[in-house]
Amino acid sequence: MSGVHRPKKHLGQNFLINPYVQQRIIQSCAFKQEDTVVEIGPGQGALSCLIAPLVRRLICVEADRDLIAPLGLSLPSSVEIIQADFLKWDMGHLPNRIKVIGNIPYYISTPIIEKLITERIKVSEAFLTVQKEFQERLTAKPGGKDFGSLTCFAEYYADIKMLFKINHASFKPAPKVDSAFIRLSMRSFKEKAEDEDFLFKLTQTAFSQRRKTIVNALKGLVPSQKLEKEILLLGLSVTARAENLSVLDYVALSNKLVL
Ligand code: SAM
Repeated sequence: MSGVHRPKKHLGQNFLINPYVQQRIIQSCAFKQEDTVVEIGPGQGALSCLIAPLVRRLICVEADRDLIAPLGLSLPSSVEIIQADFLKWDMGHLPNRIKVIGNIPYYISTPIIEKLITERIKVSEAFLTVQKEFQERLTAKPGGKDFGSLTCFAEYYADIKMLFKINHASFKPAPKVDSAFIRLSMRSFKEKAEDEDFLFKLTQTAFSQRRKTIVNALKGLVPSQKLEKEILLLGLSVTARAENLSVLDYVALSNKLVL
C-alpha cells in the first residue's frame, strides 16, 4: 500500500480505533488456545493482532485487495490472510466448531448472519459488531415493533446476547449511528419445526403484513378456518397480529399447518 489507506465507504470501512473497546471485545470473546477463529473483514488488523497470539489458528477474510499486503506485513506469519468476499467464501474445508469474529459492514449484516446460520455445523459461536438498531431487531421480544421475521429466524437457530454498546466515536471515520457487540451461540431450538422452510415462509408472510391480524395476513397461505382453529388451540386470540406470537408459537403453528 502506498501512503495512507483511504477508507472505502462502499466496503463499510469504519475502523475501530478505540483501544479500550478493542480490549473489551477480545476479553468478551474469551478465545481459547485450541480455537480456530475466522475474522470477517480484518481491515487494518486492529483486532487480528490481538487475537493471533491467543488462538491456534486465525484466518482473516478481507474483501479489499489494498489491505492484504499491509496485513501480511503487520500480522504474525502464522495468520492466514485470504482476499475474498466472505459471503462467497467456501467454508467447506474448515474444521467443525470454529469461532467467527467480525466488525462487519452494516449493509451486509443480514446476509452474513444468514450465512453463519447456514454454516452452523462449522460455526459454534460468532461475535459481531453490528448497528445498534439491527441488534435491537435481532434480540427483540414479542409484542414490539422490532420483533420480526429476522428475529424469528435468528432466534430459532441461535441464542443471541447483546454484550455491550459501542459509541460511534470509537470508529474512524465515525458512522452516524452507534453499534452493539453481540454473541450468537448456535443451538438446537427447544421445539423442532417439521418443515423449516414452511416455518420461515409463515413468519415472512405474517410480518410482511404486520398491521393485519395474523388470520388475514396468512389467508393466501392457509385456509382461514383451519388457521383460526389452530390459533385458538394454541391459546392465542384470532385478532392477534404477527408480533404477538413468539417463535415457539410460530413453530407450533407451522407444525399444525404444514401439509
Ligand atoms: N476489523 C476492522 C476494524 O475493526 O477496524 C475493520 C472493520 S470495517 C467496519 C469492515 C471491514 O470489512 C473492512 O475492512 C472491509 O473492507 C471489510 N469487508 C467489507 N465487505 C466484506 C466482505 N464481503 N467480505 C470480507 N470483508 C469485507
